[in-house]
Amino acid sequence: MSKYDVAIIGSGPGGYVAAIRCAQLGLKTAIIEKYTTLGGTCLNVGCIPSKALLDSSHHYYDATKHFATHGIDVKGLEINFNQMISRKNEVVAQTSGGINFLMDKNKVDVFQGFGSFVDATHINISKADDSIEQIEAVKIIIATGSKPATLPFIKLDKKRVITSTEALSLKEIPKHLIIIGGGVIGLELGSVYSRLGSQVSVIEYMPTIIPGMDSMLSKELQKSLKKQGIKFFTSHKVTSVVTKGKEVIVTADNKKGVPTEFKGDYTLVSVGRKPYTLGLGLENTGVKVTERGQIETNEHLQTNASNIYAIGDVVKGAMLAHKAEEEGTMVAELIAGQKPHIDYNLIPGVVYTWPEVAAVGKTEEQLKEAGVNYKSGSFAMRALGRARASMDTDGQVKVLADAETDEILGVHMIGARAADMIAEAVIAMEFRASSEDIARSSHAHPTFTEAFKEACLAVHDRALHS
Ligand SMILES: Cc1cc2nc3c(=O)[nH]c(=O)nc-3n(C[C@H](O)[C@H](O)[C@H](O)COP(=O)(O)OP(=O)(O)OC[C@H]3O[C@@H](n4cnc5c(N)ncnc54)[C@H](O)[C@@H]3O)c2cc1C
Repeated sequence: MSKYDVAIIGSGPGGYVAAIRCAQLGLKTAIIEKYTTLGGTCLNVGCIPSKALLDSSHHYYDATKHFATHGIDVKGLEINFNQMISRKNEVVAQTSGGINFLMDKNKVDVFQGFGSFVDATHINISKADDSIEQIEAVKIIIATGSKPATLPFIKLDKKRVITSTEALSLKEIPKHLIIIGGGVIGLELGSVYSRLGSQVSVIEYMPTIIPGMDSMLSKELQKSLKKQGIKFFTSHKVTSVVTKGKEVIVTADNKKGVPTEFKGDYTLVSVGRKPYTLGLGLENTGVKVTERGQIETNEHLQTNASNIYAIGDVVKGAMLAHKAEEEGTMVAELIAGQKPHIDYNLIPGVVYTWPEVAAVGKTEEQLKEAGVNYKSGSFAMRALGRARASMDTDGQVKVLADAETDEILGVHMIGARAADMIAEAVIAMEFRASSEDIARSSHAHPTFTEAFKEACLAVHDRALHS
């Protein structure tokens, strides 16, 4: 039987990053993945394929809506949807292949098969040929991720009533895509198909889309997506989903209980994701799960079996690839005897619609609720020369800073390239910068990043360009 210092179950961004860091720290490491490709949800059916389709559909949308204004006339423009999906598959294959390369490079042993605990230090790996291999490890990291959640009365047939996984590999562009859930995944995939010509209706139970993000962001995003043709039905509770041949009928009640019937050819159920621990044999280890199915850990991500850790979507916190990665690194370093730390307040959240949405730190609602005395500065994208040059004038940046110390407490951006720009805010906050620190730093002109500087100037009522 092979023996390891560390064995990791699951090869998503949590698991594979943990494996690399463990190997870098000199630990003999194994990783176990039930699928034939490495990379987990993120690389195979999450972040990467969704961004590939977002980029392809963005090009098409620009060509149809914006090229003529730029003085580029295109005739006979057509979508080759099969090619779009094939390109997405190639991007996924390349990215996942890259993880195999990294495992080789770092001398991590990869086991393909389903891992389940025999006890706290032994894992059975069930392989495709029905054989079982057992390995032993001193420390074990559970990184088994999550699966799409649904509502109790919705039957996911994965043909017409689909999850994000199927939405990333459809054979045709839907005529009318009904999306249940106005969160990040629903809006990103809704954007893809709306840009490609589908009618898209988003039904959201809460009064706003992207619930939990600053209300400025949800209002602005809804306004922009509405202009692009997406229809929103907020404060609507879905009560039934029925499939009749190629038609899906979704019924939802508004606030007053009045039902509306939506008829489409596909329904995407994007009501969140649930931690995945099925068949893992946790009962053989004493590891506990919470009522929500998440693996219970202490602040060091250690379960109540002291040699077993858990990271990523399977534990509490934001279900984000970069959060899983940070946790993978932290646990590897803890195992190696270091004292790492994650500031969860500084994990950014991003929505890759267009305009993009990105945020870090506290929302204005959270600061109000906590009774924090803060100042706010905002800057509209339309006032930027760079935004006008590229015709991306929707959006704004809002900076929230402590009223006394001026420390930046939250940054909320909506606009072109916000996903990349938020990194500056994260770094500023990691170094506990004041809004004046940013306001006094030179930002290249003309760039979108000037909006962050201007919003910081606006905190002190001295924005230059608005
Ligand atoms: C459509 C979509 C778009 C997304 N876009 C983004 C984005 O843009 N940015 C972002 O930060 N996040 C995004 N996410 C979320 C992101 O994918 C997850 O947060 C991330 O993948 C979690 O990483 P993880 O390592 O915890 O788990 P996962 O990536 O879910 O990986 C877990 C792995 O464990 C394997 N596994 C499970 N059980 C076993 C077992 N018993 N034995 C062996 N293997 C097992 C699974 O097969 C899987 O490969 C998106 C998600 C979706 C669905």
